[in-house]
Amino acid sequence: TRRPLIAGNWKMNGLEADALTLARAVAAGVKEAGWNDRELLVCPPATLVAAVAHAVKGSGLLVGGQNCHAKASGAHTGDVSAEMLKDAGASHVIVGHSERRADCGETDAIVRAKAEAAWRAGLLPIVCIGETLTQREAGETLEVLETQLKGSVPAGATAANLVVAYEPVWAIGTGKTPTVGEVAAAHAHIRKVLGGLTSEAAAVRLLYGGSVKGSNAAELLAAGDVDGALVGGASLVAAEFLAIAKAA
Ligand code: 13P
Repeated sequence: TRRPLIAGNWKMNGLEADALTLARAVAAGVKEAGWNDRELLVCPPATLVAAVAHAVKGSGLLVGGQNCHAKASGAHTGDVSAEMLKDAGASHVIVGHSERRADCGETDAIVRAKAEAAWRAGLLPIVCIGETLTQREAGETLEVLETQLKGSVPAGATAANLVVAYEPVWAIGTGKTPTVGEVAAAHAHIRKVLGGLTSEAAAVRLLYGGSVKGSNAAELLAAGDVDGALVGGASLVAAEFLAIAKAA
């Protein structure tokens, strides 16, 4: 049984006052619902991880980073290590988001090193993969996912130390989503490929991400092999994010 994970990726949004208001509202919703059959996670910008973790302490709401460096410390101006995120109160970290692959040139090898860094620090990495529109239209989706997965998931993955997020690049922030059948096909393929990387593939949680909102969450979360969601825009509104969690 795979316990659904509903993760909010706040991206580069939020100044302290509004971020704490949002985090407290989500935490209150989590506490009130008393869910033990699903997990909720918010990933604020690095500047707010510590403050958010402090604000939601004891609520059951988890806190994560959006990225980390592969090294624990050193001469890497402006970067944040997995150890620093852990120290700030994070339990998870997103690695290899398509925006970082595109904006910062992150390759599968870099993503893999970051996932290993997360393990070293005691964080649970959420490894992101996903095809572009061009790749989908060329019929390359499953092949692209397979290559990204094999390159980005380190040896030693288990159901307890890995979460994979499938985020079609063309579905991010666009209001467009794949059909339920397309999501299920992608996830089934991901699970199959994971079977060659870990003996625990059947228990690894696979999240769908890309234009998830309250109104489409139930349908997307019910797709085969979908064990949760990675939510961008809709995670910035507490009621919307909680509605998605409720649909899980
Ligand atoms: P949206 O939910 O805004 O489409 O973003 C998805 C995403 O990239 C989450 O990581």
